[in-house]
Amino acid sequence: MLSTVVSRRKFLKATAAASSTILAGLSLSSLSIQPAAALPPPKPKLVMGQKIPSVCPYCAVGCTVIGTVVDGRVVDISPDLEAPHTEGTLCSKGQASILLLPQFNPYRLRTPLMRTNPKKGENEDPMWRPITWEEAFEIIIKKYEEIYREWEAKKSWLDAKGNYLIPGGRNLDDPDKQYQLHPRALPIARISTDYLSNEEAYLGRKLAMLMGTNNCDIEARRCHSTTVAGLADVYGFGAMTNSSIDMQNAKITLNIGSNHAEQHPEAFKFTMKSIEKGAKLLVFDPRFGRTASKAHMFAWFRPGTEAAIILGIINYAIKNGLYDREFLKTRTDAPLHFETKEFLEDWETNPNSIFSKYKEHVSRFTPEEVERITGVPAYKFLQMAAEFTDPKNRPGQIVWCIGATQHTCGTQIIRAIGQLQLILGNVGQPGGGANVLRGISNVQGSNDMNHLMHIWLGYRRVPGALGERERLPGGAEADIRRYQKYKNLLKQGKSAAEIAKELGIAWVGDLRHYASWREAEMHWGIFIGTYPEDDPDNGVVISDVPVEPGLTTIEYFREMEAGRIKFIILQGMNPVVSVGNASQVIRGLSNPNVFVVVMDLFLSETAHFADIVLPAASKYETSGSVTNTGHTIQWRHRLQDNSKVVDPFDPQRRRFTEIKSDLWFIDQLFKRLRKRGLIVLPSERFAKDRGIPISELRKLSNGKNIDELWDYRPPDKRIGPSIDDLTTEPEPFEVSKEIDKTVRIYRGIVGPNGENRMAERNKSFMDEYTQKFQIYKFWGWAWPDNQRNLYDPKEPVDKRGLGVLGRTFFKPDGRATFFSSFYARRGRGFPGYYEPAESPDKELVKQYPPLVGDHPYFKELGIEPPKGYHPGNKFEAGMVIGTVEEGFDVILTSFRLTEHQHTGILTRTIPWLAEMMPELFVEISPSHAARLGVKTGDKVKIVSKRNLNDPVIAKVLVTNRVRPLVINGKLRDVAAIAWAYGFAGPHRQLNAISNKLFPDAMDEETGMPETKVALVRIEKV
Ligand code: SF4
Repeated sequence: MLSTVVSRRKFLKATAAASSTILAGLSLSSLSIQPAAALPPPKPKLVMGQKIPSVCPYCAVGCTVIGTVVDGRVVDISPDLEAPHTEGTLCSKGQASILLLPQFNPYRLRTPLMRTNPKKGENEDPMWRPITWEEAFEIIIKKYEEIYREWEAKKSWLDAKGNYLIPGGRNLDDPDKQYQLHPRALPIARISTDYLSNEEAYLGRKLAMLMGTNNCDIEARRCHSTTVAGLADVYGFGAMTNSSIDMQNAKITLNIGSNHAEQHPEAFKFTMKSIEKGAKLLVFDPRFGRTASKAHMFAWFRPGTEAAIILGIINYAIKNGLYDREFLKTRTDAPLHFETKEFLEDWETNPNSIFSKYKEHVSRFTPEEVERITGVPAYKFLQMAAEFTDPKNRPGQIVWCIGATQHTCGTQIIRAIGQLQLILGNVGQPGGGANVLRGISNVQGSNDMNHLMHIWLGYRRVPGALGERERLPGGAEADIRRYQKYKNLLKQGKSAAEIAKELGIAWVGDLRHYASWREAEMHWGIFIGTYPEDDPDNGVVISDVPVEPGLTTIEYFREMEAGRIKFIILQGMNPVVSVGNASQVIRGLSNPNVFVVVMDLFLSETAHFADIVLPAASKYETSGSVTNTGHTIQWRHRLQDNSKVVDPFDPQRRRFTEIKSDLWFIDQLFKRLRKRGLIVLPSERFAKDRGIPISELRKLSNGKNIDELWDYRPPDKRIGPSIDDLTTEPEPFEVSKEIDKTVRIYRGIVGPNGENRMAERNKSFMDEYTQKFQIYKFWGWAWPDNQRNLYDPKEPVDKRGLGVLGRTFFKPDGRATFFSSFYARRGRGFPGYYEPAESPDKELVKQYPPLVGDHPYFKELGIEPPKGYHPGNKFEAGMVIGTVEEGFDVILTSFRLTEHQHTGILTRTIPWLAEMMPELFVEISPSHAARLGVKTGDKVKIVSKRNLNDPVIAKVLVTNRVRPLVINGKLRDVAAIAWAYGFAGPHRQLNAISNKLFPDAMDEETGMPETKVALVRIEKV
């Protein structure tokens, strides 16, 4: 074990120099990294490498790659010529991805590190000391034990009535303080990156629940949570409806909130194919990017006003009779009576139809009003609206990304997008669809595994997180009593319809939650129900999983700053760069009373604040499944086993034995916590307290306990109890088998003979229909039931699945919805337009109040906050909002670059990519630059109300790509800043964190921060 203390300065100096001098043999011994001073001479003869398919670890297009492996070591990574969604090409990130492997990258973490400087802060030196994994686990568990024992002493799993329930985290007792940690919850949290495989995300969520917390979140919170909520509200599932391959079938593409060509280049290839066949491309963007350069029509608009554009197009289509009558009549709620929900034959003219109400609702979004709000000239808007709604241009797709989602009204924007496609009949067929492009390689899968705070097992609610239709007084306790009745009725052999009727559940489909809880009882070895079971009305309520929702990412850091969350594990996520109001994130992580564990490939900005840093394997060094943006699940084969590869930078030629997979860490942590008595289930406490044999409580499950069922070793290595085995690595496919049983939408990923359908690479077609539209149903597996284009009844059923889900809208009556009774409670039965939290215009704020509880204008204008804003959107909760009157007069948005993946920590550490896009820059218009007196290459300082004393310094790029817009009659400057930069990593020039500028005001429903629009002041340095 090395005991050298490495200062941050020394490390950065060494690693910065390493990029240019590795081959010259610069010593990096202080981090156990050594130069290639004595590389073995090249082998004199050619050797045949083994070709292994894998999946690019960067974005969610999910391009397949082929790794060439010689002697267990990857020597090449190339595009897969066979893959239908890759067609033999990769973007710059995929091409450079071989440099993620540790034998090519001296910046990869190689050993666990312990902080020796107790002070935290951006400018504090962590003084890392390399330690062993055993030491790391000892430190982590010791700290966790302190927190856990204190919590345990309060008997926090017992409620006032004697039920055995652990609250998840959100304080539902005091609605005004909902975002605060529940006083009885465990003060812990875990966040994971969306790079985790499905197996890692699933097991991570399971571990969090067994540890006793729903404070469990993923990066998706801040990229597409509003997409999931918005699309689920309208269609039933919160996923991209079609696939990137299917984009070639579109007759028109409306691109809003996505620079498709730059962010998902290999998917854009299919939009380009559609253009070659004569399709049109329309782009709305605050910045003229590479996608715009290929567009037939383009318009600049003010970020955050997407809903006004979409509602304006809907108004245009309805007013001009361009809606798809047959589709609306048969597949949506448009023809239903607004209150009784009866079908109305005269729905187009009947004032009581949902259609008529909707028509009236959108009528205010005339071209002139759209221009006033968004800055898009009315004539231009009309041209684009006419083109997109023209019946000869159907089917058409809408493509969006985080430009449309990261807003306080993000869910409403996505609802509107989904509904525009209903109006035009563009959903449920090839070439159409609501095609959201997900960012990180497994963001869709991590969502599906519900590494989230309110759901589990594939979008099933946690006990007490009751949905709209299932609402019943009594919360979690009543929910579990009802679940016990469900189990008892099942035992009596009652049908689902009979059970739903007896329990007073409106839609039989809502029983899916209970059906999945039952699977978890069977396959996890837990108990949810009452004791005794035959007295569900009066028995003691017990839940082995935490009840009610936990907190979300933004809330964690506020709670950490307040000292209410004391322990956090971050596997891969880099919130210091990715989350709005990054200074607040830093304050939370810097609280000396919060213990921070980070597992990552590199020393990220977030790792800088950690107490313990753990070296993670990249996705080429592990296996597992990954779900691409089009909900197709592919298997990633492990390309190399790190423990067999020698470190060429190490003079002692050690192997990479200390780099571990996230799955291994989760498995180890469970076993170690459980054996130390730090995972004790409420049912176990109950049985002990009452002197009842635990088997009594497991009569309805399969009788096994969590220790027996937590066994993911390869079948041939299952020697002795799993819980005692710390040496056998978990086998990801063993976790897949459990997912296949417990996550309904993923059923079918494992065949009846144990075959791995996710690994299928067969390009044959099922029939003429699939051939005509290039639907590859034998390449991987798609959820649900291998349906590739959601809601398309013509797509042939894959009889290998259950063939039930995905062909109709997942709604009680199969009709997609315009009216939402859930959002109606907040006055948003139909999606509306709401100003961004930082609006430049007082009049617009008065007319379209932002979804926040406090705003500097509200008092002055004498207006009440709108109903149902996120409880964290208040000044007292930490939200900070600036105004034009305070000098923040520039509208700022942010953008991504092809060469950098999100926060940049996986690309700034790759020399090929870092050299192409080395430093932070901000794009401003020529007229704006003239007023500031700056030219391209000059530096400016940028401040918002959140970083007044810590300005972001960036280089200026003067360009016509951004331009001032007239908003409500006033000319406003618009600027755009890249956001892939930070202070960590070897390539450090201008490296400020852009998200210090953007707000952390959140979407009402999902807690998504508004990181796409801020008001700032820009000054010449
Ligand atoms: S980053 Fe995305 S588009 Fe580029 S190669 Fe990887 S998966 Fe494909």
